[in-house]
Amino acid sequence: MSRAAQKGDSDVLVIGAGPAGAAAATVLARAGVDVAVVDRARFPRDKVCGDAVSNGAMDLLDGLGAGDDVRAGPHAIVERGVAVFPNGARVGREYARPGYIVRRVDLDDAIKRAAERTGARVFEGTAVRELVMDGDRVCGARGPELDWSAKLVIAADGYGSVGLAAVGRDKPRGRALGVSSTAYVRGMTYPDGERTADHFFERDLPCGYAWIFPEVEGLANVGVYLREDTYRAAGIPLKQLLDNFIARHPERFGSAEMVGKVRTWSLPLAPAPGPSAGHGVILAGDAGGFIDPLSGEGIWQAPHTGRLAGQLATAAIGAGGELTAPLLRGFERACEESIWRPSRAKAVTQEVMRQVVRAGLYRLPPLIAALRWAYRRRSFEMTKA
Ligand SMILES: Cc1cc2nc3c(=O)[nH]c(=O)nc-3n(C[C@H](O)[C@H](O)[C@H](O)COP(=O)(O)OP(=O)(O)OC[C@H]3O[C@@H](n4cnc5c(N)ncnc54)[C@H](O)[C@@H]3O)c2cc1C
Repeated sequence: MSRAAQKGDSDVLVIGAGPAGAAAATVLARAGVDVAVVDRARFPRDKVCGDAVSNGAMDLLDGLGAGDDVRAGPHAIVERGVAVFPNGARVGREYARPGYIVRRVDLDDAIKRAAERTGARVFEGTAVRELVMDGDRVCGARGPELDWSAKLVIAADGYGSVGLAAVGRDKPRGRALGVSSTAYVRGMTYPDGERTADHFFERDLPCGYAWIFPEVEGLANVGVYLREDTYRAAGIPLKQLLDNFIARHPERFGSAEMVGKVRTWSLPLAPAPGPSAGHGVILAGDAGGFIDPLSGEGIWQAPHTGRLAGQLATAAIGAGGELTAPLLRGFERACEESIWRPSRAKAVTQEVMRQVVRAGLYRLPPLIAALRWAYRRRSFEMTKA
């Protein structure tokens, strides 16, 4: 549904029809809750991303009824992930089931359409400028073409969410934020085969890495990612870091050419410093800061936390519309177990990788053997089998 001016009400208003918001809306509509979704963009819309959809994320999309549509569109298969060190040492593993590379213009449209099929009302081209408050409780949202009342609001509007202030949080930065640049490249070479996702741990990308992913319709997604505090300390622009990475790897980029522009965006990392729900609002996906700090992945986290937010809102609406203390505790516990605890372990791993690269420890065969063993054990892996 695409209309210009919206005034009305619903039990739940979801802000953002990306993977988090669409998942929340699907769960709510399936439970018979009256749910409306607004997004400032018109779909199909693009999103700056590496486009890597893990096998765990695809499982979630299947559960939401979007998987078949995603697989029917343009995509690449990923069978293995490899960490590449500055001396060329490669530490990899085969995935138990394939992952996918899907451009977000296709992926997000499929997830949004699945939400619409379940009965969620989606209003595109409708931006939220501010939440409407009743005392310290959120009771709706307003924008240039929007005036909406709701018993509960799910903020799934990505980085810099309008919902942060309502739960007492600031915009993330420093160790709670990642920054990343990406571009599409034609004509890559793949030493381990074309179904390989390569992650390069390099000296000028502390607490981060560069990636080369399999090609979709002849275009490979290539990018750099690093934690904002280390990025600021180094003082090298993201585009320069991407150019430097490409220049360091003629064996991969020798006959390659960049297609289109380099694009940059921010990644709010888990564990989030502060509550993710309360006062009539629930944060889901990037709005709540759920991205894996080591890998920069958030495509699994978005529908996962969207689903948790949808379940919390369904229970609260069933109990009269209040986010009661026991309901909030259940939500925070689910976030802790499925995302925050493994993310803390991932943050420690990130520091270890930084030291391994800085001190040149990757030159030691026993260290590489230990990393290989740890990688295959998948101890803290949230998003893929
Ligand atoms: C460069 C880069 C590379 C990445 N690579 C990967 C990767 O390869 N794999 C992976 O798993 N993750 C990756 N991520 C992370 C991933 O992109 C996000 O975690 C994911 O998109 C989060 O989904 P979301 O639904 O929470 O937010 P989004 O996808 O950002 O959706 C938010 C929606 O809200 C809408 N919106 C925003 N503000 C408003 C408003 N005021 N009013 C109305 N609507 C609004 C937007 O239009 C948008 O549709 C990457 C991120 C970046 C920046």
